[in-house]
Amino acid sequence: MNEKRLYGRQLVESELTLAEQDLALIKRPALILTKLFLVCQRCGQKTRLKDCRLPNGKHYCPHCLRFGRLTEGDVLCSLKEPNAFLPVTCGLLPKLSLWQEKCAQELVAALRPANRHLLWAVTGAGKTEMLYPLIAKALQNKLRICLATPRIDVCNELYPRLSKVFPEVESVLLYGASVQKYRYTQIVLCTVHQLFRFYRAFDLLILDETDAYPFIDNISLHYAVANACKQEATQIYLTATPDQKLRKAIQTKKIGLTYLPLRFHEQPLPSLQINYIKDLSQKLQRKRPFKQLVLPLKRWSKNNEPFLIFVPKLALLAPVLQLVQTLVPTLNGTTVHASDPLRLDKVRLLRQEKYRYLVTTTILERGVTLPKLNVMVFYAELFKETTLVQIAGRVGRSKKHSTGDVILLCQKHAEVIKRARWQIDHANKQAKKMLRYG
Ligand SMILES: [Zn+2]
Repeated sequence: MNEKRLYGRQLVESELTLAEQDLALIKRPALILTKLFLVCQRCGQKTRLKDCRLPNGKHYCPHCLRFGRLTEGDVLCSLKEPNAFLPVTCGLLPKLSLWQEKCAQELVAALRPANRHLLWAVTGAGKTEMLYPLIAKALQNKLRICLATPRIDVCNELYPRLSKVFPEVESVLLYGASVQKYRYTQIVLCTVHQLFRFYRAFDLLILDETDAYPFIDNISLHYAVANACKQEATQIYLTATPDQKLRKAIQTKKIGLTYLPLRFHEQPLPSLQINYIKDLSQKLQRKRPFKQLVLPLKRWSKNNEPFLIFVPKLALLAPVLQLVQTLVPTLNGTTVHASDPLRLDKVRLLRQEKYRYLVTTTILERGVTLPKLNVMVFYAELFKETTLVQIAGRVGRSKKHSTGDVILLCQKHAEVIKRARWQIDHANKQAKKMLRYG
């Protein structure tokens, strides 16, 4: 019997073997019924009884079906996570800049029981690198660590990096269709949805991009985070663009803060170039080129620079692609969106320069890092402030090419654009001050 597979996991009793059922399990009813409601102990959602009744009269939770149906009478089982690790002494960690080092040490100091701390660092600040000293300290203290992110591509990118920096530590990579099977390891790297399968498992939980989809206003995910942590766990949040809720938590000191407005190469974030075009829709409908589109396209094409064009809805992908194709017919490009099965391939082909550009929905707002990249946004007024800041953050990320264009095309003035511009300009001002006064 491999009881290790139960350490800190959350499984339904019927998934266990008979021998496993005899272990000293922590058992909880999966569903709690009140007079009118059913409250799910796996996803935290409340459902009216009359909305979740089965033909046999029993009730089920309709919110977390993707992890297997929980029905009245089901029991959630877990085995206490014994922290059966040896202290690890880590070798030389990658070198950090002076500013990164300062933030990294603040994170190490934040490793206290039941503490919550936010690392707010601009896009391209080198957040992952700043985590290494914290992870090293946690390993030294025999803590069990989870790094959860909303995005599979980030998981895939981080896994080899972590394994390289901490080669002696066992880790597992988990996401919906991941090739690796769950096993008991000191480090777990996973997508946030995998947290539903853990119970009191981690001493340190690092949550990446808590402001991104699917985290925003998702009660279930926040519930899963709380459940996956041990009661005394430290929670570290990472973001470049904190939402209102997080900012409020900072103001009211409910969460500690480490702030870094400086990119790792110490150059400013690219400013937004805002163009108002009153009849943008007409121009697009009639396939009529306009200078705010033509000039940058010609420039990027001439300089052999890749670019991303963002549109706010699927229906705009094809018309924008057509217009771009007529203007730069020699360049290879295509469209991409969230449920495009070739999404990852297309991004790879862009990296390999087989494509020179992609017309995309917000799916590529984060994660894509390419040297010399430029971006353009159609109908910028329809995007969220944080999305615009993230999109701008794709540009100028390498030391060799620290600038680039961020061009916004909008049909009307909008508060989101003003706020996004303020956020970027403010970070740049703060960064300048830091560099001048230390
Ligand atoms: Zn549920």
